[in-house]
Amino acid sequence: MSKRRSPYNVILISVDAVAKPDAKSFLELPAFKYFTGRGTFTDNVNTIYPTITYPIHSTAITGRYPDRHNIAHNEPWQPDVNDRMRVWHWDIKDIGVKTLWHAAAEKKLRTASLLWPVSGKARGIIKWDFPEVLPLPGENPVIKMMKYASRIWLARTELMYNKERVSLKRCDLDDYMALLCEKLIGSANYPDLLTVHFADTDDTRHNEGVGTEADKAAILRMDKRVMRLIEAVKKRGIEDRTVFVIMSDHGQQNVPKGYITLDKQLCEANMGRAQSIGLGAYIYATDTDRAVKYLEENKEELHIKYILKNEDLRKLHAPKDIKLAVQAEEGYGYVDRNCDCDHLGDHGFGLEVPEAKTLLWLVGGPFKKGVTIPGAEMVDIAPTIAEVMGLSMPDCDGRVLREAYEEDNKLTNN
Ligand SMILES: [Zn+2]
Repeated sequence: MSKRRSPYNVILISVDAVAKPDAKSFLELPAFKYFTGRGTFTDNVNTIYPTITYPIHSTAITGRYPDRHNIAHNEPWQPDVNDRMRVWHWDIKDIGVKTLWHAAAEKKLRTASLLWPVSGKARGIIKWDFPEVLPLPGENPVIKMMKYASRIWLARTELMYNKERVSLKRCDLDDYMALLCEKLIGSANYPDLLTVHFADTDDTRHNEGVGTEADKAAILRMDKRVMRLIEAVKKRGIEDRTVFVIMSDHGQQNVPKGYITLDKQLCEANMGRAQSIGLGAYIYATDTDRAVKYLEENKEELHIKYILKNEDLRKLHAPKDIKLAVQAEEGYGYVDRNCDCDHLGDHGFGLEVPEAKTLLWLVGGPFKKGVTIPGAEMVDIAPTIAEVMGLSMPDCDGRVLREAYEEDNKLTNN
């Protein structure tokens, strides 16, 4: 075996769209029960505002809030483009600060990333990269992927395994990612840092709602995929040097009352534009004071739970360009002009709801076994992983979760 430069290899698994209200049922699932018995757990991680996937994953991988990493949304703002035709933040360059992958590459460690948001075109940073990139209507998915992924590795995996990928539906894509994880973990040069994002649960909850039979089936599929990774580590004989970090990004809430056409109404009132974040919206006002007055006067009709003004957003470490925002009353969401939204479940809620408390397991290596810690911040994940791997991630907004360390493994110098 080649010489390893990191004390532990880390497998960071993101389980999309589950949160505190799901904790009880997750702790009963075989893979998650396995982690809970062998590691440190909390169902009380404060996620970040906005509670949407790309900003949260960018925070998890950088240890910085959105006011520093600059990912405000899954998509750059494209107010007059239909949502099916919009480009997303697929390029790693969109993140304005250092990521764990950069820190690992600096130490010449081997990194792999599968379907992680904002990780495309990471040549020289991520060795084996299959980023989350969505083909737009009319685009060939493989050609699109060739632009963003690790090309030679992608070509090789396509030749060897593409028959195993049943379709491009998220549940099948996630199964394919589990297969690629097994192959990477099983190889002689297994990655020092492997990040993988499973989003079958997010997709299912958006389309079918939370608590449905389809939702329950998606959660069971998720457990099976994670179990495949545990088995791959055992089979490779690297249990002792492998640390699993399992995180979630946000929960979902059902949207029984439907979507309000806030953007259209603001346009018609000549107040500016709105950009939906699901259960909330950013407001790009032509005149902020006038827009605030309008929103306050029409609070009931627009089903606004509360307004976030500039000073509120700065306290939340919201993306710098966002100066005004709203959250919808429970059961409602917001939709952009020229777009449809028929989601039964959604996120983008404020940080006060239980679905904004997310799940975290730290398993193996220096971490305590069978222990629950009171809570953590989403910004703590990157510095904690950096510490475990001996990487340099200075100037993070978060801290190392030392309370999760066994006493013997606690460093004395800070
Ligand atoms: Zn998500």
